Amino acid sequence: MRKFLFLVVILVFVFPLQSQIPFNFRAFNWSMLGRLMQQISKPQLRLSESDVVYVIPDEKVFHLEGCEKLGSSKTGMSVRHAREVREYEPCSECILSKGITLYRVPIASTILEDMREARRAYVATKVEMGKMSQRVKDAILRGDVLIGMTSSDVIASRGRPHDVNKTTGVFGVHEQWVMHAFHDSGLWDLKGKEYGYIYFENGLVTSWQSR
Ligand SMILES: [Zn+2]
Repeated sequence: MRKFLFLVVILVFVFPLQSQIPFNFRAFNWSMLGRLMQQISKPQLRLSESDVVYVIPDEKVFHLEGCEKLGSSKTGMSVRHAREVREYEPCSECILSKGITLYRVPIASTILEDMREARRAYVATKVEMGKMSQRVKDAILRGDVLIGMTSSDVIASRGRPHDVNKTTGVFGVHEQWVMHAFHDSGLWDLKGKEYGYIYFENGLVTSWQSR
């Protein structure tokens, strides 16, 4: 992008001077040039696959936190989900104000398969060691949570928590996991709402709450 803009500047200024064509300063669109220079000098925000972006119902674009176009009914998801599952483009206002650059989307996105593969790999090692029941294995492969699951089972099934609130007392360690609405791989689904908060007592799941 920068290289392209540099080329535009060369074409606009250097080329006319060299070819002895008088440069018409009055007719030139200075505000356009201002915007170009702004683009060149602005720090670029590089979004990675797991960064959180927001969408609004009935729109085909995604926004960054703080965009003025975002209302109250926004849904958070990973950039990867927004681009590769929903096939949304970044909002033009967000591109202009933050100078977003995006990672290259693979030709054939395998987001769903990646997530399933990660779950399969996790249960395979546990089952091999004889450390997992069929019931827990099936739940993880479905992306579900069960009472009594360990924290690593939950991470394999639902992804890493967004935040952990920890309380220690005579009863032991109590944790509330605030979950993202998507799996580590970037997949957002309805189960993300179902497992909005997951509660642990001494490292094992005791309950969960939707949000
Ligand atoms: Zn926006």
